Parts: sequence; C-alpha cells; structure tokens
Amino acid sequence: MPHRFGAVVIGAGSFGAWTARELRRRGLAVTLLDAYGPGNSRSSSGGESRIIRMGYGPDDIYTRWAMRDLELWRELFAQTGQPLFHRTGVLWFARTQAQDPYNSASLDAFRRLSVPHQTLTAADLKRLYPQIALDERITWALLEPESGVLMARRAVAAVVERAIREGVEYRCSKVAPTSGEGRLEAVLTPGGDSISAETFVFCCGPWLGKVFPELLGDRIFPTRQEVFFFGLPPGDQRLGPPALPTWIDLGEEAYGMPDLEGRGLKARGPSIRGSTVSRSPRRPGPGGAGLPVRKHLQRRLPARPPPHPSQRLARRRRLRPRVQAWTLGR
Ligand SMILES: Cc1cc2nc3c(=O)[nH]c(=O)nc-3n(C[C@H](O)[C@H](O)[C@H](O)COP(=O)(O)OP(=O)(O)OC[C@H]3O[C@@H](n4cnc5c(N)ncnc54)[C@H](O)[C@@H]3O)c2cc1C
Repeated sequence: MPHRFGAVVIGAGSFGAWTARELRRRGLAVTLLDAYGPGNSRSSSGGESRIIRMGYGPDDIYTRWAMRDLELWRELFAQTGQPLFHRTGVLWFARTQAQDPYNSASLDAFRRLSVPHQTLTAADLKRLYPQIALDERITWALLEPESGVLMARRAVAAVVERAIREGVEYRCSKVAPTSGEGRLEAVLTPGGDSISAETFVFCCGPWLGKVFPELLGDRIFPTRQEVFFFGLPPGDQRLGPPALPTWIDLGEEAYGMPDLEGRGLKARGPSIRGSTVSRSPRRPGPGGAGLPVRKHLQRRLPARPPPHPSQRLARRRRLRPRVQAWTLGR
C-alpha cells in the first residue's frame, strides 16, 4: 500500500533527527526513516562523544551555526532532564599568526560574533594546566569556556525520542528514491513499500553518494577517522574535567577529550579515505593506527611521576588503546 506524508526525512543521524523535529514543529506530518537506527554505530553521529566548538577560522557561518546548535542542544537537555552535554571548555593550542592563521581568524570571529573566549599566553597555560607539556612552537592558546562535548549517540537518540513524542513517525527501514526523471514522488523500501510525500529530505551523511550515485557519486568522499580511548592511572584526576579541557592542536592534526563518564582519555587518529582500507579491526601494535596517537599523548600529557622500570610493562598495558566501533562496513 502506498503511504503519503507531508515530509519524509531519510537518515536519523544528527542532521536528520533535528530536521524531522523542526519540520514537525512547523506543522508538517513527518516520517523519519533510518536503515539501522538513530545514532547507529555505522553513522557519523554514532559513537561516544563529539566536540561542540565555536572556532571555525574565517568561516563565520559555521561559528553562527555552532552557537545556535549549542543553544538547541541545551534547550533539549533542559526539557528531557538528560545531562548529555559536558561543558569541558575547548582549548586551541596556537602558534604565531604566520604559522597559525586559523586560530587568529577564529579569534577575530569570536570578537565579531561575541563568542565567550579567553586568550592565554604560554605562561598562563603552564600555570592553569601543569599536566600539559608545551613545546616552544605553542606561543598562545584560545579557550572557549562555554563549549565542550556532546554524548553523541545518546544525544541523537534523545532528539528522536522527543520528535516521536511531538508527533513524528519513526521507522527503521532502508529506502531508495524511485528512479525516473523530474520531481521525486516516492521512496521505496526493500520490501517494495512505496512512501510518497510532498517533501523529501535526504540526510544520509556519508551514504549520500550511494543514494544519488549519478549526482553525487564523484563529489562525496567519506573519510574514516579512528578514535582511541586510553585508560588512566587509578585515581588520576589530572586528565578529567575540570582539570583538563577538551583540546585541539591543528599544528599536529590532533585533538582529545578529558576522561568523561569514566571512558578514558579520547584522542583521534589520522583520517583515512574510507574506501581504501579494510574495516576489520586492526591490531594496535607497532605501525598500527594507535601508535602516533599514543606518541602524541605521551609527549603532550606525560605521566606524573616517571615510572619505576618494573612498572613500565604494566603501564604500557594500561595505555594500550581500544579501537572504538568504527569497523562496521557502510
Ligand atoms: C570519528 C568522527 C569524529 C567526529 N568528531 C566530530 C566532532 O568532534 N565535532 C563535530 O562537530 N563533528 C565531528 N564529526 C562530524 C559529525 O559527527 C558529522 O558531521 C555528523 O554526525 C553528521 O551527521 P549526519 O546526520 O549528516 O550523518 P550520519 O550521522 O552518518 O547519519 C546518516 C544516517 O543516514 C542513514 N541512512 C543512510 N542511507 C540510508 C538509506 N538509504 N535509507 C535509510 N537510512 C539511511 C544512516 O543509517 C545514518 O544513520 C566527527 C565525525 C567522525 C566520523
């Protein structure tokens, strides 16, 4: 049986979930569909956590979106009573203007758009964050005290739950647009169910090129980014909030988050073109993806007391990274 709705939103990641909710709030009858579920492990919005930051260099449009974005998430969590945003602060390590035009441009944007921020000297950094080892290239830093970390998967699920309560119909199904020229009339489920609507919004994230191969197949190039969680020494509070903020070091293409909800210190690995590598879990041994991340952390956040030689093996085991669930195929 064909179904007809005001709007059909395909994809219940962060973009689709919010789009469905917003269309419903504007009075449309809305159906939201996802092949695997809101914030699923294959999706970009899945996983434990995401940074919400205002710094986007010269791209004011993203800063303005991020400001609105944070406001909306905060409103949602006030309504649902879920503490899924951690205001850890976001600290950008910066270099001289010639080496680091991005942070200088973010600073200009913060002043123009009244984003709460502080600029810190290298001496301020040493005083405020003694656990961070700086090198001489970091001459200043930009702190966003109101920014922080969203508990991503649970936050997306919270938007969808709220949207359903507000009248959105949610269905777990993969759909494909009907073929043909001109205006799109319907999408089809694998079972042959046809869902038609006045408006379709495809929020399929990295799948968009597969959904519209002729239009977008050679324009969207999803990358894979591995993230690692490092266990902390017992009782170590230097690496959790509020002692340690979320940090971003563009010069080293690195970022990390403090230990949130006992998950350990999070840090990212290099970006890899998605289709060029296997999605099977890789062992984090020598040459594995975790090695550069571990080395970066050992340099930037050295352990407090130098370990006794007999403790080194145990420490190495504790710091062995665990690869998050970024290994499922898209
Ligand atoms: C490792 C990693 C770290 C990141 N860190 C940050 C960060 O710290 N801060 C930040 O701001 N951003 C970060 N990002 C980017 C951010 O997560 C993404 O921009 C955002 O989640 C994209 O959301 P989306 O809704 O567009 O896509 P997705 O979350 O991928 O959602 C797309 C949805 O569409 C569904 N779908 C696809 N095709 C179909 C179909 N045919 N039928 C039905 N459903 C379909 C999928 O199942 C999926 O749920 C990161 C991304 C990654 C991968």
